[in-house]
Amino acid sequence: MLSCPVWHNTGDPFLTFCGRARILQSSTEENIRDSLNACILCGSCEPLCSYDINTVDRTIDARSGSGERTGGTPVTVPGARANGKVLLANSLILNDDTILKRTLEALGEEWSVFEDNGEDISASLEAGNQVDNYRVNEFIDMLSTADEIVTTDGLIFRVIKRFMPELNVMGLGERMITRSVLEEMIGPEDLYIIDSRTYHSDFKKLASIYDGLRQKTGCMMNLDLNRVATPSGVTIHNRNEDKKLVDPARQVAWILEGRPAKRIIVEKIEDREPFSGYPADVLFITEILEDNGNLG
Ligand code: SF4
Repeated sequence: MLSCPVWHNTGDPFLTFCGRARILQSSTEENIRDSLNACILCGSCEPLCSYDINTVDRTIDARSGSGERTGGTPVTVPGARANGKVLLANSLILNDDTILKRTLEALGEEWSVFEDNGEDISASLEAGNQVDNYRVNEFIDMLSTADEIVTTDGLIFRVIKRFMPELNVMGLGERMITRSVLEEMIGPEDLYIIDSRTYHSDFKKLASIYDGLRQKTGCMMNLDLNRVATPSGVTIHNRNEDKKLVDPARQVAWILEGRPAKRIIVEKIEDREPFSGYPADVLFITEILEDNGNLG
């Protein structure tokens, strides 16, 4: 409960995963609807769950039980297949030619953008709607022929890991860390903001990868003592606009407390905005290579 940004902002224990479990001991699912809808699917409660419950998957499943059925609008041509190494870039990256170019350069040679980024699926999950099984199966099937996949959306990362665990998928941060791109680029005056959704989806593996980066560079991170990545609360779909539930400004102030950074490097491009009001340079993770003069 203590890691939950909704609890942090509202002080209401019944708006947490733990609170919902307690309500269900004596009541029905209908009585946890508001609590389910309050969840921002950040996964911060997952590493701390003493019963090892996959809290985000459980919340998504419970939400979609009575949600509207939406198939989304696939952006791909029927029959498209992912080949080789593919980037699933979200629309904020796709709409910025410079950032997209930098991101592909940061990934390395042979990487290309796959036209179906699954953003409609992610938006449906975030809205608490039922995602059409045909659409999810089609999406996963298209990706099944890829050698490697990098995602920029933590919910899509989770969907791929859940339905096709054998696929070689990673977040953009993991790819850049394991490629040793970041080690020479960041240092003790940098605050590195991990994308909480991606990180908590695979935290047993990722905790040691991020620990390694922290030890090599001395950088600060949005990790607490339990290695939970504190989220900013901002999402690409901005579903949770009710500032009473999660206030990104408050989350950011919480993250920055005791971390006097000169630069803030964000893995999730949406996180540039809530950190922008602070006296530090805020860079998307692939912009850092340009900032350090490593790209043309
Ligand atoms: S996923 Fe995040 S918002 Fe939802 S209950 Fe867990 S900590 Fe709270």
